[in-house]
Amino acid sequence: SKNDGRGQHRFYDQALSATVKGRAQLKARLLEALERGQFLLHYQPRVDTVSGALLSMEALLRWQQPEAGMIAPNEFIPLAESSGLILPIGERVIDMACAQLARWRAAALPLVPVSINVSVKQFASGRVLRQFEEAMRRHNVPASLLEIEVTESVMMGDHDEIAAELAAIRARGIKLHVDDFGTGYSSLSQLQRLRMDVLKVDRAFTAELGGPGQGRVFFQAIVSMAHALGMAVVAEGVETEAQLAILRELGCDEVQGYLISKPLPPDAMAGRFLTHRTL
Ligand code: C2E
Ligand code: CA
Ligand code: CA
Ligand code: CA
Repeated sequence: SKNDGRGQHRFYDQALSATVKGRAQLKARLLEALERGQFLLHYQPRVDTVSGALLSMEALLRWQQPEAGMIAPNEFIPLAESSGLILPIGERVIDMACAQLARWRAAALPLVPVSINVSVKQFASGRVLRQFEEAMRRHNVPASLLEIEVTESVMMGDHDEIAAELAAIRARGIKLHVDDFGTGYSSLSQLQRLRMDVLKVDRAFTAELGGPGQGRVFFQAIVSMAHALGMAVVAEGVETEAQLAILRELGCDEVQGYLISKPLPPDAMAGRFLTHRTL
C-alpha cells in the first residue's frame, strides 16, 4: 500500500534536492538552520489503548526551510548523524521540548510528558544526561515530564558507557523507551540488563495486524514478554479502528498513530489534546 506518507516525502525530496546540492551544501544549510532557528518540533499524542486518555506526546523534528518548505527528519537526520551535527541539533531539540512544556505550564494547561528521540550518536558523546539536566534547569521542568526514545542499536555491542548513562538517566526519573522495537537485534538478556520502561513496537508490525500474516502472534508474544519484564507496550503507526480493536484484545497498553492524530504544531496539539483531557 502507498498509504504511508511516502508521496509526501518524495515531494520534500524533490524540493530539497532542487535547492540543496550535495552533502557539503546540506551540511552548511543545517548549520545555518541552527543559527537561524529553522528547526521546530511537532507533537504526536500517545494514548491509553482502552480509555483513549492522553498519556504523552512525542516530539518530532521538522526543518522549516525558507525555499523548500517543511522538511521531514528522514531527509536530514542521516547527514546530521554522519557529520556530527546531530549533537548541537539534538541539544536544541531537548531545549525546545522543555521550553514548550514551560510555555504550556505558563498557560495553565494540563501537562503530560514529552517523549524525545535521542540517537545512538548522541549517546556516544556521553553528554545526553548533562544536556537534559541543563534544559530542565533552564526551563524549570521536572524529569517526570520527560521521556527518551532510543532504538535497539544502543543495546548492541560493547556499549558499557552508554549502558551506564542510560541507567543514570533512568535513576534520575526519565523513562526510557525502546523505539522501533522488532526491527533491530536486541536480545532478551540485553533488554533485561538495560532496564527499559516501554517497548514501542515498530509500525511495520502494526500494519500486519488484521492481515493474513503472523502480526497478531508477534504482538501477543511481545505483550506477554514485556509485561513479564515489567515493561509497557506501545503500538506505533495505528491507522485503523480494526488495528485498535485487535490491540485492545491483545492487551497492548498504549497506541500512537494517524488514527488518533498526525504530529501537530504545538498550538494545534494544545488546542486538540491538552484542553480536552479526560481525567
Ligand atoms: P520515529 O521515532 O519512529 O517516529 C515515528 C514516525 O512515524 C514519525 O515520522 C511519525 O510522523 C510517523 N508516524 C506516526 N504515526 C504514523 C502512522 O499512523 N502512519 C505512518 N505511516 N506514519 C506514522 P517523522 O516525524 O517523519 O520522523 C521520522 C523519524 O525521524 C523518527 O522515527 C525518528 O527516528 C527521527 N526523528 C524525528 N525527530 C527526531 C529528533 O528530534 N531527534 C532524532 N535523533 N531523531 C528524530
Ligand atoms: Ca520515536
Ligand atoms: Ca518508532
Ligand atoms: Ca524510526
